[in-house]
Amino acid sequence: MTEPTSNRRTFAIISHPDAGKTTLTEKLLLNGGAIHLAGQVKARGAARRARSDWMKIEQQRGISVTSSVMTFAREFDGLGEITFNLLDTPGHEDFSEDTYRTLTAVDSAIMVIDAAKGIEPQTRKLFEVCRMRNVPIITFVNKVDREGRPVYEILDEVADALALDVSPQSWPVGMGGLFEGILDLASGRISRPEGDSREFLGKVDYEPVPAEFAEEIELGQMGYPEFDLEAYRHGDLTPVFFGSALKNFGVAELIEAIARLAPPPRPQPSSNTLGEAGVIEPTDKEVTGFIFKVQANMDPMHRDRIAFMRLVSGTFKRGMKLTPSGSGKPMAVHSPILFFAQDREIADEAMPGDIIGIPNHGTLRVGDTLSEANKVRFTGLPNFAPEILRRVQLKDPTKTKQLRKALDDLSEEGVIQVFYPEIGSQWIVGVVGQLQLEVLISRLEAEYKVAAVLEGAPFDTARWIKGSDAALRDFAEFNKSNLAKDRDGDPVFMARSVWDVSYQQERNPELTFSATKER
Ligand code: GDP
Repeated sequence: MTEPTSNRRTFAIISHPDAGKTTLTEKLLLNGGAIHLAGQVKARGAARRARSDWMKIEQQRGISVTSSVMTFAREFDGLGEITFNLLDTPGHEDFSEDTYRTLTAVDSAIMVIDAAKGIEPQTRKLFEVCRMRNVPIITFVNKVDREGRPVYEILDEVADALALDVSPQSWPVGMGGLFEGILDLASGRISRPEGDSREFLGKVDYEPVPAEFAEEIELGQMGYPEFDLEAYRHGDLTPVFFGSALKNFGVAELIEAIARLAPPPRPQPSSNTLGEAGVIEPTDKEVTGFIFKVQANMDPMHRDRIAFMRLVSGTFKRGMKLTPSGSGKPMAVHSPILFFAQDREIADEAMPGDIIGIPNHGTLRVGDTLSEANKVRFTGLPNFAPEILRRVQLKDPTKTKQLRKALDDLSEEGVIQVFYPEIGSQWIVGVVGQLQLEVLISRLEAEYKVAAVLEGAPFDTARWIKGSDAALRDFAEFNKSNLAKDRDGDPVFMARSVWDVSYQQERNPELTFSATKER
């Protein structure tokens, strides 16, 4: 652990709504001695208010105001100071492609599961995105202070549902009314509830586990593999911690695990000017990074955007000139937003793994590579198949040109995806989350002066298709009404259902139907 980048841990939390992501985030920041908070962690009651404010602003101005990066640093015995970059994966109603894309910018993830509910749909979706990139996952089974399901049942569900090895690192001693605390399996120490609130305030002891639980724990542990760092870092095994975010159980152990087990910044797959594949190491001298998210400015009169860049290599310094792959024109990054700053004086530098917010006027696009020499392009930053499809209907048919420009712009920015059907003239937009549709309509009006409505589309999902020209031609002959082109002109199969996708895949084994598309 001597490489200069090894004290960064850039991670995200994946979970289903209500599993406890917000509560855990707050506790991580508290336990981790948060030094700076970009945006705010919403409180429960405030969440609804924040959402309605957001919607109002969204509708009036067509912008987005979500929090994005939270950074904190703490000392660890034998490791020195570790800096954590926690990237927010927007959930709930603002679940969007951003949520997926954020996972392309992290080195590891914490998967939060409700002890009573196990693996839920959104957890699974986000997990699949992690798996695509072999992102290592630490599992936190939350809410063990309440009556949950038996421990082995949860462990087996994670193992079976996600095809992962699970290795318990702690064990709840009783749950719900019988909750006695959390046993750390490595040290044999129990942290116990204290006071009326039954929270964890710091009392850890070696007292033996109460007899009625001892046997259960011993038996329970058997049959699960020992922790294996290689297997974890490769995404094949997940260490599992039990706890209660609300009552502060298991959070310190979780932070410790991220510091000690989670990987430092990873090398990023790339290609060079000749199109040859390679990787950029975090230790490489040249400053490189990629844009994984673009957020529009509050002020509708300004075309300002904040582009979020994940630094891949080199030491970034304020004022530095970088060339975005999209525009090809070098730009000086004079006023970067650095989220990790303890105080603004040391905020002029960022290291691999850090996130930099770059204000710009629309020159920076999601998926862009930024570099000093403009000779590499990062790969592995896919588009994700939309889960909601709508037809766009213009209120004023003379505005077709403006609409096309707007849809192309907004799809480049990553707000929506656009599909142009082979037959018919009604364009289709696709999004991952419902809220993006409202953003689309309000931005069309505010920025492009285009009034449009969205109508149901006869399709449920889309898949990028690949194959030989002949195979594509054969397929097109029978399926013309289901074919479209995306904004790069690549062929897309518009499916009536997910079942339709499997059916076509079976009938056309020489074609691949992909739910993601590499840029
Ligand atoms: P999110 O939707 O995943 O961000 O979940 P929240 O953090 O907002 O939590 C959802 C609900 O579960 C809230 O009412 C929390 O107070 C509650 N909650 C979160 N963690 C725990 C826990 O460890 N124990 C119990 N009993 N409730 C919890």
